[in-house]
Amino acid sequence: MTVRVRFAPSPTGFLHVGGARTALFNWLYARRAGGTFLLRVEDTDRARSRPEHTQAILDGLAWLGLDADEGPVFQADGVERHRRDALKLLDQGAAYRCFCTAEELAARREEAKRAGAGYGYDGRCGRLDAAVSDARAAAGEPFAVRVRAPEEAIEWEDMIHGTMSFPAGSIDDFIILRSDGTPVYNLAVVSDDAEAGMNHVIRGDDHLSNTPKQILLYRALGRPLPAFGHVPLILGSDGKRLSKRHGAMSVLAYRDEGYLPAGMVNFLALLGWSPGDDREVFDVGGLIEAFSIGRVLKKSAVFDLEKLGWLNGRHIADAPAVELAGAVVEILGREAREEGRDLSETHPGLDSSPERLARIIDLVKGRPRTLSALARQVSPFFAATIRYDEDAVKRFWKRPEEAAFHLRRLAERLAGEAAFRDVQTLESEVRGLAAELEVGAGRVINPLRVALMGQGVSPGIFEVLEAMGRERTLARVLAAARALDAWIATA
Ligand code: GLU
Repeated sequence: MTVRVRFAPSPTGFLHVGGARTALFNWLYARRAGGTFLLRVEDTDRARSRPEHTQAILDGLAWLGLDADEGPVFQADGVERHRRDALKLLDQGAAYRCFCTAEELAARREEAKRAGAGYGYDGRCGRLDAAVSDARAAAGEPFAVRVRAPEEAIEWEDMIHGTMSFPAGSIDDFIILRSDGTPVYNLAVVSDDAEAGMNHVIRGDDHLSNTPKQILLYRALGRPLPAFGHVPLILGSDGKRLSKRHGAMSVLAYRDEGYLPAGMVNFLALLGWSPGDDREVFDVGGLIEAFSIGRVLKKSAVFDLEKLGWLNGRHIADAPAVELAGAVVEILGREAREEGRDLSETHPGLDSSPERLARIIDLVKGRPRTLSALARQVSPFFAATIRYDEDAVKRFWKRPEEAAFHLRRLAERLAGEAAFRDVQTLESEVRGLAAELEVGAGRVINPLRVALMGQGVSPGIFEVLEAMGRERTLARVLAAARALDAWIATA
């Protein structure tokens, strides 16, 4: 049997983290088994479905690399088949016409509520004589179609939760075709999944209560049952259901914030799944190899932004520099344009010396957690002018006279070509100066880092010096000393 699975989003919003995780689990399951992954857009709710949402979902899946083997198919295109399936059940006697009006049903629901009882349809139209039912329909009386609920419990072996059981009487005779002729959601899903030969249905826990109804419909339609697996909810770090306040909900917002698809996919995979050992960093191939639905946890997953940042940082560090270069050029280019300038003015050489850019990216990529942070670290190596980060200044230039003095002494010491021979020589020059000044190396290195990078963080300072080169280093160090003078004068 070839595995056939699907992702079936409703286009009522963007692709959110929960939906993306469901899509990913289905996709991994299919890829692992060499099966087929189908995409079905459930657009039958005309009032809430929007083409721009469909597009946003497709864009989100494309960004994550979750390619569909079949589809997208659109649920609304199947509405005639949905109706035929409902009428087939009516013909077979598995369903019946219900002539109860909305007002009557509402009144009975009210009554049940007043009596403190749960409400379920009492099945009265199911007991109508067939001839009576036919006559009322022939006379033009509007009716809905209800399926007959079973006498016995409905059970299934859930791929994630194990045996699930809904006791007899927990499902009432529910409507499958409304009196206006529109099929209900559960019927449409079963009709579509059966038609497309889906043999595994993996979806969110929020669909658990739909599953017994759907099983009932499969049986009534005489279609083979798929295996069901219900993926647990995603909670925020405060234990509440994931919502906007826990971070961006749309996966594309993470793209815009500088996360890599590989980092996001890795993070989503670990939301409720674990490989069973302590591995955490996976590329997509590794995930396909390691994924098993049996290792999806029953308990809710917790959305941890900190973890996403860390994983993304690992993926940035592992990515070849050439793959990151485009993003860096784009981010710094966008920033330049926002200031009404051109990248070749703000960062001369950045997009015309790919080899140097790649070397710089390799130097800095071990630390940043997002592409924007990566761009911030690359920027000083090309920037025409440097901006000093306020926090870094407060922390590392807190003794401005001393910082200016150390920087000037350093400029003297590094003035000769020889100092820049290699990283070791640079290190011994800087440490040598600190020894001569009888201060800890940090009192020279920290002001130097701010002078060169404008920031309080960087890769190893001696590698930074080498990558900056002699000319740029001396210019930066002296410019910083002058900035400190000016600052002292006005303080
Ligand atoms: N359209 C449903 C949703 O977006 C999913 C239905 C299903 O997976 O069976 O929640």
